Amino acid sequence: MKTAAAKKPKKAARGKPARRIEAQTRTKFVYSFDEIRLAERAAGSWDGVRGLLGGKGANLGEMTKLKMPVPPGFVVTTEACKAFLAAGDRFPRGMWEQALSAVAALERATRKKFGDPDNPLLVSCRSGAKFSMPGMMDTVLNIGLNDAVAEALVRLTGDERFVFDAYRRLIQMYATVVLDVPAKPFEALLEQHRSRRGVWNDADLPAEDLRAITEGFKQIVMERAHRPFPMDAVEQLRLATMAVFRSWNGKRAYDYRKAAGISHDLGTAVNVVAMVFGNLGADSGTGVATTRNVTTGENALEGDFLMNAQGEDVVAGTRKTLPIAELARLMPGVDKELKRIARTLEKHYREVQDIEFTVERGKLWMLQTRDAKRTAQAAIRLAVDLAKEKLISREEAVLRVKPEHVDYFLHPQLDPAARNAASDKGALIASGLNVSPGAAIGQIVFDADTAEHWAQRLEKKVILVRAETRPDDVHGMLAAQGVVTSRGGRTSHAALVARQFGIPTVVGVVALEIDADRRQMRTGSGKVLKEGDWLTIDGGTGEVFAGEIATVVPDVTDPYLVELLSWADRFRRLGIWTNADYPRDAERARKFGAEGIGLCRTEHMFFEAERLPVVRSMILARSAEERAGELAKLLPMQRADFLGLFRAMDGLPVTIRLIDPPLHEFLPNHDELQRTITELETRLKLNDGDAAALEAELAAKRKVLDSVDALREQNPMLGLRGVRLGIHMPELVRMQMRAIIEAACACAKKGVKLKPKIMIPLAATSNELKVQRALLEDEAQKVIREQGVKVPYQFGTMIEVPRAALIADHIAEYAEFFSFGTNDLTQTTFGISRDDAETGFLSEYLQKGILERNPFATIDQAGVGKLMEIGVKLGRQRRKGLEIGICGEHGGDPASIAFCHRTGLDYVSCSPFRVPVARLAAAHAALEEKKARR
Ligand code: PEP
Ligand code: MG
Repeated sequence: MKTAAAKKPKKAARGKPARRIEAQTRTKFVYSFDEIRLAERAAGSWDGVRGLLGGKGANLGEMTKLKMPVPPGFVVTTEACKAFLAAGDRFPRGMWEQALSAVAALERATRKKFGDPDNPLLVSCRSGAKFSMPGMMDTVLNIGLNDAVAEALVRLTGDERFVFDAYRRLIQMYATVVLDVPAKPFEALLEQHRSRRGVWNDADLPAEDLRAITEGFKQIVMERAHRPFPMDAVEQLRLATMAVFRSWNGKRAYDYRKAAGISHDLGTAVNVVAMVFGNLGADSGTGVATTRNVTTGENALEGDFLMNAQGEDVVAGTRKTLPIAELARLMPGVDKELKRIARTLEKHYREVQDIEFTVERGKLWMLQTRDAKRTAQAAIRLAVDLAKEKLISREEAVLRVKPEHVDYFLHPQLDPAARNAASDKGALIASGLNVSPGAAIGQIVFDADTAEHWAQRLEKKVILVRAETRPDDVHGMLAAQGVVTSRGGRTSHAALVARQFGIPTVVGVVALEIDADRRQMRTGSGKVLKEGDWLTIDGGTGEVFAGEIATVVPDVTDPYLVELLSWADRFRRLGIWTNADYPRDAERARKFGAEGIGLCRTEHMFFEAERLPVVRSMILARSAEERAGELAKLLPMQRADFLGLFRAMDGLPVTIRLIDPPLHEFLPNHDELQRTITELETRLKLNDGDAAALEAELAAKRKVLDSVDALREQNPMLGLRGVRLGIHMPELVRMQMRAIIEAACACAKKGVKLKPKIMIPLAATSNELKVQRALLEDEAQKVIREQGVKVPYQFGTMIEVPRAALIADHIAEYAEFFSFGTNDLTQTTFGISRDDAETGFLSEYLQKGILERNPFATIDQAGVGKLMEIGVKLGRQRRKGLEIGICGEHGGDPASIAFCHRTGLDYVSCSPFRVPVARLAAAHAALEEKKARR
């Protein structure tokens, strides 16, 4: 028995891998571009194909299917990558054999041979994940070149310059990607040759230099990697494929995925493509373009290209590029074909594309297409235009614009007056390309690590200034307020990343001479700015200013945004209200599309400078008469506040919340008072000043301290506040009620239509509401009788403590509407302080993954959300059609808005600047629900 039992698992252990190996051998790991249909069958959907072949591979296959000029090639799947990484960097069984047969097929298609000096095939080996991660993973070009092939190619093409340019690029890329040799020594050798020849571009180096550079590069490899550059083409391809797979787990790819919310489990595919050359002379070139302008959304091909160059020269931003419009002049035939292809691609994908192409001796080759990244401004215009052109529906247009796009749209801009004043004083130090809009102000830093350190550890605002950014600068870009580069074009790495993340950015500021080693930069006029100096940039105009300039937030008047939001309004069910305390906020919110005020925090009015002394005297009053006197002073002020709000919202609902915070918030700070008293006592002892005056001041301060002491609570947020305060100090809320109804009567007399909604905060029992409402009703009726005008009004409550949600049916007996105060509800449900947690342990919780999201930013659906669901259900059980909204900060958060939609709330109320975002998010919630039901 024992032996048999011991044997059994052994047998199973042998059997399992055997089955796995068998399965792997059968798995198709390699697809040629013309096998896209097979991939579709295997993956089941276009999304599946992209998952399997990566976006680049899937699109190359798709372009091949569309009969576009794509060089022959094949894709090694993401499945292979995942298996490779899981097995500790070993190809899955059968994969390499499949790759070699695909190489053989490539050889047949091109009638060339891999590694054959007489007729060599050269290939590129590029990464390509499901979601585009520009420049984050590795690429090796010109694989297949070696000493013999190079010499043979020179004989074959008669173009020694081209051959050695390609060869030195292969060694350079191979060394940095496969062998991890740093880029610096290669760049240094190139720079040596450029400066010796007095040229700016590598393309201007003669063949003889490139030959010498190739030799030099081989030596660098030997010195740094302690092994020679491999001459065997198949070995080059094998190691390059491994390196690309490994680059999925590289730091920059990891950081990028984290920031972009891309799963770490997807893996990358490898695209092996027959090389075409853009550096074969004056009739060759290479470029990148978007089918429309992705900065403004304008309908015109936009991009850069270089004559006689290879792909990475354009993207790296290391050479001065030509605008794509020049192509029409330089290569009219190619230009025409490119435009035709661009249109076809847009129609096919129903989306603006970002394309890469190469022209080899006059023939156009398409190397890539993908959905183009865009600025927020462009995203909105493109969605509207594509819908109008009937490429997509209005629903799709609305879904394509993200709430963040609308938000970025509201990014601060430079205050025009402050900008002009700064410019007059000579602060405008340079300008460049306006690749990602918005104004940004920060202290200059010259490298990504410093940017991250200053921003995250020292909580400084920084602007990252670099000659050009590279993929491993991404963490610094994400930490910065804005980015400036002295080189690079619209499609440079810096521009692509900035646009995606909405980081205000100016690139190609050639007038800036950046010396990162000495931590300084020199402007065209000789001004030197050092690390830590302040800089202001305008990503919308491309201007760079020394110093800080005031910013303003623009009105939402962009016609495309207005139109898109009007479509969104037709799709949403949720009402969008606003939290506004002052008429000016209410007016702005209304302009942004608010349909009511969901929360007016009346106590904010009490904090105004001329009112605070009156409020204090009212609180500190020693007798009922004294208090009544102070309240009488406050009454006209409150009445004027409400009049302003009613007028601004004419006809729309206005929800006024009665006083909520604990009274100590209006009083001087206890510790400060104590310090002043000690100081006064010391001065008195030392005869420092007029004794009588000091005595009088001391007595007054002691009186205040007594009152502060009397009102002092250990836990004020759980103390005398909200409805409890209204019950404890009825004359205060009576005054507020009087002010509301008097203002309402005055408006009604002038024909302003309104129905004030009086909201009682922090109730936990139905009796609190019963008592408070009776008192307020009494005051309201008194005013109505006095004024002789009938105005309708409603009483409601905020649901801010779990008990209120749990007994919402009882609460609804006395409340005609509910509004979830999710700031307090989150605080009281979690039992964590909303004032302290976010700067304390909460960030640790988020970092450690104990909490997935900050519950004060996005509703915690499992806990707080559950209470809301209970509240909605019970409330409406008791009172049919009970109107329910939310007025906590979550009311402006897209994920929380979607939850409110699903939970059946009537409206969300958020700050005025979130109103446009909320309108879109509410439409998304409704459309997503509709999609899910289909
Ligand atoms: C809330 O608690 O969610 C709320 C809106 O009230 P306040 O933030 O004023 O406490
Ligand atoms: Mg509250």
